[in-house]
Amino acid sequence: MPIAENIAAVRERIAAAAREAGRASSEITLVGASKMNDAAACRAAIAAGIDALGENRVQEMTAKLAENAYDGAPLHFIGHLQRNKVKQVVGRAVLIQSAGSLELLDEIDKAAAKLELVQDILLEVNIGGEEKKSGFLPPALFQGAEAALEKPHIRVLGLMTIPPADADREANLAYFEKVRRLFIDINAKMFHNEFQYLSMGMSGDFEDAIRAGANMVRVGTAIFGSRNYAQPARQEVT
Ligand SMILES: *Cc1c(COP(=O)(O)O)cnc(C)c1O
Repeated sequence: MPIAENIAAVRERIAAAAREAGRASSEITLVGASKMNDAAACRAAIAAGIDALGENRVQEMTAKLAENAYDGAPLHFIGHLQRNKVKQVVGRAVLIQSAGSLELLDEIDKAAAKLELVQDILLEVNIGGEEKKSGFLPPALFQGAEAALEKPHIRVLGLMTIPPADADREANLAYFEKVRRLFIDINAKMFHNEFQYLSMGMSGDFEDAIRAGANMVRVGTAIFGSRNYAQPARQEVT
């Protein structure tokens, strides 16, 4: 498995983009998006020094947790989170990157209170205003931040975004830059400039995201290879 080489190659590209932007590569956190990759792949990424692993699906995360797939690296939750599954994620993922609605903030706060812990989150921004995507629309983001600030069992560490998948490179960059401006603004006005993470950029665009100010990138395909979504149905041969 070339996972270690892939991570080394991604790190080099991160370093080059960071240099261009006048920043140190050590400022950029590399999260391996390990959905649909098994525990062995997760362990290989951890052995190769990945900074964190991010999962998308609660069921898959729970199964891989039972296999100790993430031992040695911080686990993030980065996928769409349903309210009725929040309990299975709070306290297990050290960072929930996809907190994108008032209802979800409520659920996370309640679950964290029960466990007597403070859950670190990122507020997800639906920067393209896409109807089917989760995340706060830009005009609702301040309200989301305010709500989060009022919850004793939530700590907001920054913002996360996924621009529309069909945006061309220029439009994509413009989305990243919009989110960076929101980050700077909210951070200064509401969080005493204590935000830690601006999470944006995936395999196809993490260099542009870094140029636009990201300090956390979530990379799947470029590390683990392409995912096989069309899993063959098991057929009984008679
Ligand atoms: C899958 C996923 C990624 C990584 O996508 P790649 O294009 O495979 O790098 C990043 N962020 C989220 C939220 C994802 O679901």
